[in-house]
Amino acid sequence: MPLSLTCDCGARFEVEDALAGQSVACPECQQPLQAPALQRPTLRTSGFALASFLLAIVGAFTVVGTVAAVVLGLIAVVRILRDRERVAGLGFAGFGVGLGLAFTALMLWAISNGELFGLGAALRRTQMADQLDPVDPKAPLEIRENGFSLARPTAKWVRARKGFQSLPVQPLLRNDALLLLVQPDLYAFLDVQSEANNQVGPAVEEFILNRLKQDPTQPALNNDKVKSPPKFGGIGDDDDPPEISRITKVIAVGTPKSLPTDDKAQQANEMTAEATIDGKRWTVLVRTYQMKKSGRLFIVRAFAETARFARVKDELVKALDSFKVSPGS
Ligand SMILES: [Zn+2]
Repeated sequence: MPLSLTCDCGARFEVEDALAGQSVACPECQQPLQAPALQRPTLRTSGFALASFLLAIVGAFTVVGTVAAVVLGLIAVVRILRDRERVAGLGFAGFGVGLGLAFTALMLWAISNGELFGLGAALRRTQMADQLDPVDPKAPLEIRENGFSLARPTAKWVRARKGFQSLPVQPLLRNDALLLLVQPDLYAFLDVQSEANNQVGPAVEEFILNRLKQDPTQPALNNDKVKSPPKFGGIGDDDDPPEISRITKVIAVGTPKSLPTDDKAQQANEMTAEATIDGKRWTVLVRTYQMKKSGRLFIVRAFAETARFARVKDELVKALDSFKVSPGS
């Protein structure tokens, strides 16, 4: 847009707006005169950018709020870039989008894991505390039972009392287990079972999978005298019996392998299975030892939620490796 100038000599002329604010010579009298400065359009901050910024903060833990913050922030960015002369607020919009994305991701992760900032884990620990032996850093890690021995990987692994209950894992637990060890922080488990004179032979994998599919008997849960822990995220109603989840799917993972046997075992195997409970997948690492003399079958299982399994695998394998059958079994 050209600028209009009027010289003292009376001459009127126009110059390019590129010369705004600069000194130009009058074409009539050659006197220098100042071209007017350009009127800068006033900048206003984009309402979308501000809304995005505020929503990202206020709606931080709501998912819906943070998703809205991201959408509004993106609208703001588009509008600002289209009209940078008049609209400002890229910083607000960028902040809204960034924070919105971060909180949305964090909340979706938290919801999918049932972990609202450790609340789920803390609740579980409280529920389990009175069903577990207390943590004693001085107690020996090795546990000797009738027929076998096993070393706890760390002092955090503690023995569960008979009738141990924890709803999310309940369908995997067996009340006929000879030993149940629990790591409450990691919600990881290890148990030892045995079957007298059981000759499953090479069909041991199928036997283990079928055993997982079996609905384990849980008389304790049907007993009114036993107070069941509330399920995380559920609506508490003391009068209703707790809903016992079921294993809805069991699959074998990878290829089962044979383990080296000593003079007591005629066959030792390892396999991994995955069981689904309430839509959550659990990885179960199972080792079986078929005894030569007695025909007794030991089943040692280590399990944790599949999402957490990689984190606990080393400890679980360490415990499994320490399993030993006592002489005479
Ligand atoms: Zn002039």
